[in-house]
Amino acid sequence: MADQTAKSSGLLGWYFGTNLLVRIGGAMVIGAIVGIALAYMPTIAAPFVSYTKFFGDVFIRLLQMIVVPVIFFSLITGAAGLDPGRLGRVGLRTLAFYLILVLVALTIGLTMANIFKPGEGLNLVANAAVQGKTAAAPSLSTIFLDIIPTNPIDALAKGKVLPVIFFALVFGIALSVVRDSDDEKLSRPADTLYHVCAACAETMYKVVGGIMQYAPIGVFVLISNVFATQGPKVVGPLVFVLAIAFLAFTLHVFIGFGGILVLHGLSFAKFVKGAQEAMITAFVTRSSNATLPISMRISEENLGVPRSISSFTLPIGATINMDGTVIYLSICSMFIGFATGAPLTFDQQLMVMITASLGAIGAAGVPGAGVIMLMMVLESIGMKVEAGSAIAVAYAMMIGIDSIMDMGRTCLNVTGDIVAATIVSKYEKELDMTKWGKTA
Ligand code: ASP
Repeated sequence: MADQTAKSSGLLGWYFGTNLLVRIGGAMVIGAIVGIALAYMPTIAAPFVSYTKFFGDVFIRLLQMIVVPVIFFSLITGAAGLDPGRLGRVGLRTLAFYLILVLVALTIGLTMANIFKPGEGLNLVANAAVQGKTAAAPSLSTIFLDIIPTNPIDALAKGKVLPVIFFALVFGIALSVVRDSDDEKLSRPADTLYHVCAACAETMYKVVGGIMQYAPIGVFVLISNVFATQGPKVVGPLVFVLAIAFLAFTLHVFIGFGGILVLHGLSFAKFVKGAQEAMITAFVTRSSNATLPISMRISEENLGVPRSISSFTLPIGATINMDGTVIYLSICSMFIGFATGAPLTFDQQLMVMITASLGAIGAAGVPGAGVIMLMMVLESIGMKVEAGSAIAVAYAMMIGIDSIMDMGRTCLNVTGDIVAATIVSKYEKELDMTKWGKTA
C-alpha cells in the first residue's frame, strides 16, 4: 500500500515536473501512433474510442467553460483602458491585417489546387445512397446585424462570441467614460468595477493555466480517436488532397505569417516558440474559440502583446479571421470540381475567393464549421450538394476527412490571429520587445 502511494506520487511528480510543451507534444505523437495502429484493428478501435472519448470531451468542455468569461472580462478591461480614438485605429489596423492575410491564403490555396489538380481523373458518378445537404449563404447584412445582441445575457449564456465581444466593447468604453467622470459618486464605483473586472480576467487566466495541466491527457485521447476512426478512409485521392492542403497550410505559415513578421523586423522562430502552445491546442481541439484563452495568455506572456490589444483583436480574430479555413475552402471546392469532371472556371474561382472570405467571417470558431461553409461556397458557384448527385459523393468524401483537415486549418486560423495581434501591437509601439530578445 505504502509502496503504491510512493509510486503514484512518483508518477505525478514526473508528470508535473516535465515541461508542459514536451508533455503535450509527446501526447500528440503517441496519440497519432496509437490511433493509426488502432485504425487497422477495428474490433479494438471501436471500444477504445467509446471508452476514452470521455477524457477528450472533458478537455474540450473545460476550455469551452472559460471562453465566455475570459473574453468578457478581458475585453471590458481592455476597452476601458483604451481611449475610444485609439480603439478605432487598432480595430481598423487589425481588420486590414486580417484582409491581407486572407488574400495571401486564398492565393496560395488556389495556386496549389491549380498546379496539383486534386481529384482529377476520379470521375465520380451519382450515387443515390449519399444524402445531400443544403446551406444558405448568410447575407452581409445578416452577418453584421447578428453581431448586435438583442439580449446580452442571452448572448453570454449561449456563448455567441461576436455579440459578446460587441457588448463587452460597448460596456468597456462606457465604463471608461464613467471612470473619468468629475462626479466622485460615479467615478469611484466605476473604478472599483474596473478593478473587479481586471481581477476576474486575471483569475480566469489562472484557471487556464490549471486546465493546461490536463492538456496532455486530452490531447492524447483526441488525436488517437481521430486517427482510429478516420485512418482507413484516408486513402488515394484523399491522401493527395490532404497532402496538398497541408502543403498550402505550411506555405502560408512561412510566406504569409513568416513574411509579415520578418517585414516588421520580428523573428519568425521566436514567434513560433512563443505561440506553439496555442498552435498545438488549436490543432487538437479544432476550435479557435476553445483555444482563445490559451492564445490570449501566451500572446501576453510569451510575445509581449499588451492585454489592451490582445483582449480585443484575438476574440474578434477567432470568429472572423480564418486563413486556414479559406485555404481549405478553395482547395476542396477545386477538388470537388476536378473529381466530378467539372473543373472550376476562372470566374468560379473568383467567386470562391469572395464567398470563402465571407463564409470564414460568418463561420464560428468551432469544430467542423468549415465543412458547412464548403456547402455554401459550392452553392455560390452553381454546384449544389443534392442527394444522389456526384457533387454530393465528392462532398461526402470531404466530410470523411474533415477532422484531419480541421486540425490543420484551425491551427492556421489561430496562428493568423496571434500574428495580427503581434503586428498591431508593434504598430502601436506597445509590443514588449524584451520578449523578442531586444531592448525595449
Ligand atoms: N474549426 C475551425 C476553427 O475553429 C473552423 C472551421 O471549421 O474551419 O477555427
